[in-house]
Amino acid sequence: MPAPATTDPIALQLLAAQQDSPLLVALFDAADQLQFANPAFRSSYNLDPDEQLTWAELMTKSYTQGTGSLIQTLDFPAWLASARSRRGKLPFRAFECDLCDGRWMWMTETVRSDGWMLCVASDITDLKSSERAVRQARDVAQRAAQTDGLTGISNRAHVLLQLEQHQAQLRANKTPCGVVLLDLDYFKRINDTYGHPAGDTVLQHFARTVHAALRREDCFGRVGGEEFLLLFPGMDMDSLTTTIPRILALVSDAHPLPLFPDFFYTCSAGVDLLRPEDDARKAYHRVDEALYAAKAAGRNRCEWAP
Ligand code: GH3
Ligand code: MG
Ligand code: MG
Repeated sequence: MPAPATTDPIALQLLAAQQDSPLLVALFDAADQLQFANPAFRSSYNLDPDEQLTWAELMTKSYTQGTGSLIQTLDFPAWLASARSRRGKLPFRAFECDLCDGRWMWMTETVRSDGWMLCVASDITDLKSSERAVRQARDVAQRAAQTDGLTGISNRAHVLLQLEQHQAQLRANKTPCGVVLLDLDYFKRINDTYGHPAGDTVLQHFARTVHAALRREDCFGRVGGEEFLLLFPGMDMDSLTTTIPRILALVSDAHPLPLFPDFFYTCSAGVDLLRPEDDARKAYHRVDEALYAAKAAGRNRCEWAP
């Protein structure tokens, strides 16, 4: 495959640059015959200097010899047909592709109006893995910053942020939202009687039980030791009036400590709807007052804010 002959100084510079470049550069004619490949391309596809193949032959060689493009299929003819159905249909396309030697390439295909195609591929293996590491680290940090360690549900900051977001929704689209503050009853006594680890088990059981009763759009967070906030977007007074007692009953019916099969626990709730003039602090204050009333009225019950 002789290098193209030219005396134009710019063209000579361009030819020399691709000759030394780690970029994979190849040129196919309208019949998809390889007409030119630079050294990086030839070594990646294990091509002799004079080897001239069609693109289909190049892929066949990759598949049978395990060089060049990584082609993982049990049905190579079907793979080839499928790849061909996408190849050269657009003036330009770019995609990721694996090479058999483990490199991850960003492959571009530029098709000219006469049908000739320039293929240029660059190695993005390092870029990709570092991106992936950053993305994973960011996801882990973000999840940790929003999550309560003991129960796995939202932490205080995250559920209060959600409360603010629902407040904005209410102002913008009049979407109602139920707000419920739940607090476990006599929890100190549970710790004192059964031990702190048993108390932790009860907290985890509570989070699991309530979570299982929620819709996907509902928000649930632990705002204090044994105090939890629930948000029910779209719910009105009637649906809250049936939903909350159902949740309290799920909790009081359970026996979460296997060593003490008769043990059960209860919780109390303060309930209200978000109001347009609210901010998160005001809404929280009202359900806290309602919760206090539920405790004062005997616990294991729910009270509406005045
Ligand atoms: P009330 O019915 O009025 O709510 O009484 P209570 O005992 O539940 O409330 P109080 O505020 O007196 O006690 C709450 C207890 O919760 C005290 C604290 O030690 C315990 N607690 C807070 N966080 C945790 C935790 O993460 N694990 C355990 N096991 N206990 C916790
Ligand atoms: Mg309590
Ligand atoms: Mg409390």
